[in-house]
Amino acid sequence: MTKSAELFERAQELIPGGVNSPVRAFNSVGGTPVFFDHAKGAYAWSADGDKYIDYCGSWGPLILGHAREEVLTAVNETAAKGMSFGTCTELEITLAEQIIKMIPSVDKVRLVNSGTEATMTALRLARGVTGRNKVIKFAGCYHGHADSFLVAAGSGLLTAGISSSAGVPDKVVEDIHLVPYNDLASVKEIVDNLGDDLAAIIVEPIAGNMGLIEPLDGFLQGLKDLTQSCGALLIFDEVINGFRLGPTTYGQSIGIEADITTLGKIIGGGMPIGAFVAKKEIMDHLSPLGDVYQAGTLSGNPVAVATGLKTLQILEAESPYGEIDRLGAKLEADTRESLASIGAHIKRLGGVFTLFFAKGPLTNLDDVQGCDFDRFKDFYHKMLAAGIYLPPSQYECAFISAAHTEADVDVLIAAINAYTP
Ligand code: PLP
Repeated sequence: MTKSAELFERAQELIPGGVNSPVRAFNSVGGTPVFFDHAKGAYAWSADGDKYIDYCGSWGPLILGHAREEVLTAVNETAAKGMSFGTCTELEITLAEQIIKMIPSVDKVRLVNSGTEATMTALRLARGVTGRNKVIKFAGCYHGHADSFLVAAGSGLLTAGISSSAGVPDKVVEDIHLVPYNDLASVKEIVDNLGDDLAAIIVEPIAGNMGLIEPLDGFLQGLKDLTQSCGALLIFDEVINGFRLGPTTYGQSIGIEADITTLGKIIGGGMPIGAFVAKKEIMDHLSPLGDVYQAGTLSGNPVAVATGLKTLQILEAESPYGEIDRLGAKLEADTRESLASIGAHIKRLGGVFTLFFAKGPLTNLDDVQGCDFDRFKDFYHKMLAAGIYLPPSQYECAFISAAHTEADVDVLIAAINAYTP
């Protein structure tokens, strides 16, 4: 028995399903989850001592790779001064300044502890500002696990094969209107019907939780126009996208400003953090200034803030995006032919990619659900055997980081090209 298998047995006695987040359980690919022991740069070593090139990157935060020296120094120096104070600190201001410098269209930042908290609070804020309740959400988009969002959500919910969650009162999801991603005509119809009742449209401007699905031309601008026309707010959930394709948000880079943007993952550099940002007219509705309540014992935790700050500073100074994109483009180009021959393709933006076992193009959740999931399972385990760690689900994105070299990507290319079902 492998050490990972032994650990998984122990874990299952003590932790539901053996995991603290469902998709880690390998349910959609089968087999035993690989337990990681340590990692550095682009590589991770399992509890069994096996080395993997890691293309999961902790599900996205590690755009600089694992355990980068300057980031570790920031963690250690900050932790040595005290793990948490529950008071105001200068570091929080510095991180807010850094985020606003990189997203000039926003005025204020509120830090929370996870992407889930960010989206949950962004929705409360949108409802508080507008005094309305109804929300439009897209099938296959995942916005964390707050009750309101567990309607046809992506990521782990898709992997588990359920479209919603027990324990969520019908009343909570009653106000959530579900639309296929990229279907602007349906959004318009609902907006016309709801009129003054619509509080917000929430969307991943690039969808990353049903695998990587791009917005069609005009989709995001259409959402912006519709929200403006009825006085609702547009929420861009950039927990995955933020600082991913360039040193800013996706919305800022394409010139479509959401009213509220949610952030997470990269802005914590691997530590638990989330944030939401907006103009001050919106943010000042938050307590203690306004009547929309939000709080957190560990919000703005100095160690998490220092990790995120150092990560953003490095991204700004080094701008690794061009090189990450070059490696992503090479991966896409050098596998296109062999994948086409087995009815598969890579969808990619920058260093974010999903290998879909479908011919494509895919534009929404229904399309993705037509993929060959058995083939993905088989592929996944062959990649593991070749020393390549991908996120264990067809519904997820993989990430090339600044720590991956061309040689690392060549190993992935060779493994993909050698794959035979
Ligand atoms: N929003 C998006 C787009 C996400 O991808 C995720 C997590 O993957 C979340 C929100 C929730 O973030 P967290 O897992 O930090 O709660």
